[in-house]
Amino acid sequence: MKKSLRFQLSFSSALLVLLTVCIIALSAHFSIQRQFDQYIMERQAAHAASLAESIISQYDVQQDSWNLDYLHGFGMYALSDGYIMKVYDTSGASVWDAENHDMTLCHGIMESIWTRMHQQKPDTNVSLITDTINLSMDDGMVIGHVDVQYYSPNYSRESDFGFLEALDHLLIFAAIASLVIAIVLGLWMARRIAKPLSDATQAAREISSGHYDTRIPPHSGSAELTTLTSAVNQMAQDLESQEERKRRLTTDVAHELRTPITNISSYLEAMAEGIWEPTPERLTECHQEAQRIAGIVGQLEALHRSEDQSVHVTKSAIQLRSLCESVASTFARPLEERNIKCEIEGEDLILQTDGDKLRQILINLLSNAIKYSPDGTDITISLRQSKNNAQIRVADQGIGIPPAEQALIFERFYRTDLSRSRETGGAGIGLAITKALTEQLGGTISVESQVNKGSVFTVTFPL
Ligand code: ADP
Repeated sequence: MKKSLRFQLSFSSALLVLLTVCIIALSAHFSIQRQFDQYIMERQAAHAASLAESIISQYDVQQDSWNLDYLHGFGMYALSDGYIMKVYDTSGASVWDAENHDMTLCHGIMESIWTRMHQQKPDTNVSLITDTINLSMDDGMVIGHVDVQYYSPNYSRESDFGFLEALDHLLIFAAIASLVIAIVLGLWMARRIAKPLSDATQAAREISSGHYDTRIPPHSGSAELTTLTSAVNQMAQDLESQEERKRRLTTDVAHELRTPITNISSYLEAMAEGIWEPTPERLTECHQEAQRIAGIVGQLEALHRSEDQSVHVTKSAIQLRSLCESVASTFARPLEERNIKCEIEGEDLILQTDGDKLRQILINLLSNAIKYSPDGTDITISLRQSKNNAQIRVADQGIGIPPAEQALIFERFYRTDLSRSRETGGAGIGLAITKALTEQLGGTISVESQVNKGSVFTVTFPL
């Protein structure tokens, strides 16, 4: 089984700290031990030198003789401390020798020192040292020499052992405390990292099973984890709005098709049952309803094409004025019938764009302007260059769009209440197509409008 990220992170941080602490503790232990042995050895050498000093003071220069009683007492006292003294005169003859005096006692004491050191500090290198120190008076006169033999290093005091032991305890305590802190911190860190990851996994699972409203709660992790969380949330939000659009499209299409289908079927039913005569007027009405259905289906196809990002955009240099004139000419008949004047004004701009798509945009805007304008009004198409953009404005003097609905008219199937009361036959898809096409060409579309005064639709394209 794969180990969890949380386990791996806390285990590796604990292991890392354990290794580091062990290395530090061991090197501290050995280096302190070495330093301390060195200190003890220097202390013993100084003590041996001080023994020699004391011996010199017991030499009587006038009588050229030694105070042997003192030497004996002093030598025995030094022996009890682990120092074997052998005093010689200038001729090399022995004046006082601890071994000669009591060989058994000397060996006994030295052996007990060696045994004690090896029992209490088996890792210490204890060796027998002999310091030969010249005995010379203040005036420089040499009166002999003394050999001081001792085991070194010799932890003569209990506090010497205690010091090293206390240090070792301190190191062990520091190691255990660091390890515990590392484990706690490691677990905490691992939780901070693993929690958003497991939240993201859980959320992805729920999203994939259709719960698009799932969101990962914000957390204060690292930048990468925050990016991951917001990416998953963004994905869920996109899927949710896609799903919502799909659902709305289905209900909108059903709603739009229901009226003409109900009309056709009720007409045909009445005619089949002989209630209505199949007069040419009634058959024409049925035909018109069927055409309305065909129109909606056609617009849906056009919407699908305009929203299809894979559709190729073929660019060429388009003369905007000629294009507008050509579009206006296709509406010559309804314009004339309704006595609406369509004027084209402004500079003649040339735009690198897809001519067919731009034509479709203008057709949609102009057909709306005509549809929602009373007879005898004016429509103006103006061309303008502002900064690096080309602007085409289609202004009418029609029914206008209430401010609250201006942002909604670009959505599929949206129709304002003002337009619903008019028999326009529109299904509310034209502007959705116009917006999608404008965006495909890299442009933007906006509207300014006042109820009963008119509307201005502006499409802007980078030049
Ligand atoms: P439709 O086929 O209903 O015209 P559109 O998508 O082209 O669909 O327009 C959506 C709605 O926006 C229209 O139903 C209408 O309410 C409003 N609209 C569009 N153009 C104009 C305009 N020039 N004047 C007033 N209202 C408009």
